[in-house]
Amino acid sequence: MGFEQTISELRSNGVRLTPQRQWILRYLKDTHIHPTAEQVHQEVSKALGGISLATVYNTLHTLTKLGVIRELSYGDGSSRFDGNETEHAHLVCENCGVVGDVDAPDISNIVPESIVKLGFNVHSYRLEYYGLCKDCQVSGHQHQTRTIEN
Ligand SMILES: [Zn+2]
Ligand SMILES: [Zn+2]
Repeated sequence: MGFEQTISELRSNGVRLTPQRQWILRYLKDTHIHPTAEQVHQEVSKALGGISLATVYNTLHTLTKLGVIRELSYGDGSSRFDGNETEHAHLVCENCGVVGDVDAPDISNIVPESIVKLGFNVHSYRLEYYGLCKDCQVSGHQHQTRTIEN
């Protein structure tokens, strides 16, 4: 769902749309970088000068609860936010931390037999592939070459 569609849906559900909520939602619908709260704050500050980091945090949590964005928590305590609320998988680079989107297989094809046997009814899932992005593979290679030359 795009920004305009999400906004009109929230409006028809009686959700109050403060400028903070609108700007943060607009930014998350536009970007594919899966920003942290700090990055959202930096970006939205350009439009809303005095907005505090605490307000950004609160707004992000409200939008997550409303189900229009997703919060991706990682083990190191950092969270990233995703305006793409449809099912998709992520590619996470273990070196630079970049998070990319990739199409995920249909849920009916991905639930393993072992889960079906338990009688568990799966509604959603979170699928992440960890590894090295192309850029980090290249820089790793250069580093190795330098070491050999020395
Ligand atoms: Zn990387
Ligand atoms: Zn994503």
